[in-house]
Amino acid sequence: MHIYDVVIIGAGPVGLATANGLRDRGVENILVLDQTRAFRRVGQGVDILPNGLKALKCLSNQAYEEVIKTARTDTKPGNSSQSSPKWFFRDLQGKQIRSITLNFDEWVQNYSEGRISVAWFDLQTALRNLIPTEQVKANHRCIDVAFDADEKYVRVDCLSDSTTKNNPYAHWESERQNNRVQSQDISNNINQNIHQNTEPVEKKSFRAKLVIAADGINSTVRKVLYRDTNYQVFSRPEYSGYAAIICSEITNVPDEIQTEIREKFLHNAPIVTITQDKNLRESDCEQPARMILLSRKSGQFTYVVHIPVDLNKLQENYRIEVTLNELENSNFPETIKQLVRLSEPEKMQHRTYYIHRATLSDSLPFPNSANLHTDNNNSTNVQPPWYKDKVVLVGDAAHGMPPFAAQGVNQGLEDALIIAELVSKLAVSNKLNDENAIREAFEKYENIRRPVMEYVQKITMTGLNYSSNQQELEKYNQQIFARDFEQLVKNLNS
Ligand SMILES: Cc1cc2nc3c(=O)[nH]c(=O)nc-3n(C[C@H](O)[C@H](O)[C@H](O)COP(=O)(O)OP(=O)(O)OC[C@H]3O[C@@H](n4cnc5c(N)ncnc54)[C@H](O)[C@@H]3O)c2cc1C
Repeated sequence: MHIYDVVIIGAGPVGLATANGLRDRGVENILVLDQTRAFRRVGQGVDILPNGLKALKCLSNQAYEEVIKTARTDTKPGNSSQSSPKWFFRDLQGKQIRSITLNFDEWVQNYSEGRISVAWFDLQTALRNLIPTEQVKANHRCIDVAFDADEKYVRVDCLSDSTTKNNPYAHWESERQNNRVQSQDISNNINQNIHQNTEPVEKKSFRAKLVIAADGINSTVRKVLYRDTNYQVFSRPEYSGYAAIICSEITNVPDEIQTEIREKFLHNAPIVTITQDKNLRESDCEQPARMILLSRKSGQFTYVVHIPVDLNKLQENYRIEVTLNELENSNFPETIKQLVRLSEPEKMQHRTYYIHRATLSDSLPFPNSANLHTDNNNSTNVQPPWYKDKVVLVGDAAHGMPPFAAQGVNQGLEDALIIAELVSKLAVSNKLNDENAIREAFEKYENIRRPVMEYVQKITMTGLNYSSNQQELEKYNQQIFARDFEQLVKNLNS
């Protein structure tokens, strides 16, 4: 059987960016596997910010160029600032808290790199099209990875089947799709599927000198790595305590409510975030409710409300009630609550947000969460490493988190850069069979990336980027956006 230098599990943005980075550095004996039955238009829009774009450019200039081409038109470079929208944040009285320019060139002036909005699928396609088709395989669901110490390779077992599995943690399936299949856990049901499924299930294995797992927040590889260890409790994503309640296309809004919303909050903009201007401190245990309100067509409104909520309360029939309750707790004005009362249940969905904590310290505020890692069992207070033997976790599989700071993809691209640099160095120096050298490289990757993730998750969980605390915001922007990635790579290689 062929032995690959690297098998990447997961053809999401992070897996594919890593594959591009490796190929650009001469590591071409690679394979990318994805569970999706076919690559298709799924997923949300994501924002790629200066740090993500800088990491991508260092990874592969060609990948950077292709991704920029897929950006939403009004966020592309060279677009005049007049035709680029601004994203306004307003307090509950409609007073502006802050605004974010969506103009690429203005971001370049401030942080020497721009910012784009792109659909998840377009990002995936741009990165996938740069890799030979035979090196990216759909319909290969990884179910196990096993290190064979004698043979010195990692075996990757996959299923190619035609069943659809529900992934309660993923953002790329709509609720309607999710409801088609009852909640099941992939790994627990594999055997059942092999024996009970009437459709053909083909099991395939691959061999690799090293495996990079980019299989998202509900990572199967993560479960395999932590199985039967002290880290078992970290296998699954932890509920962050926050959920989004979404209602699209509300059209039956009385004129006086429309006028008030437009005059007080939208001010002719197509999108606004409405939130309490809270001077957030690290110790604050929960972020208040926030509403992202969109009105792209006259008389039509869509909202996304982020609320701290107990998972048990989040049932389909109570979504309006739960939202109203949280808006009430956060002192939202009557007009906004009236809009929510007009929500049609069939146009509503909710999304729960999960996290793999990068730190076990108590500095992350988690409302309503089960506080999984701070129980009395000492074994759970040990930080779970992001690697084992010749397998390493990257992207959401290592440190997935809620999207409040829009950093998930961006941090994953930073992982991709560091891991591609380190792994290609191993390949060039013929050390892909050297277990000590691999462990050192993985350790280095984690030592560089974990402190950044601790900081970014802290910002995400305290909601700093929704406040008007200019001083803290500027500190954050400098620390995350203004970094010089070319220098970082030079330091890595010195
Ligand atoms: C509403 C929302 C908005 C967001 N907005 C932003 C934003 O503005 N900016 C930002 O940076 N981030 C944002 N994010 C987060 C971002 O989408 C994720 O952080 C990012 O997609 C993670 O990339 P990934 O490649 O690690 O994982 P994923 O994108 O989850 O990709 C994982 C891939 O692995 C495959 N896979 C899973 N299991 C297996 C298996 N067992 N075998 C084989 N393949 C498998 C999946 O099919 C998928 O293709 C947002 C997230 C949400 C929910």
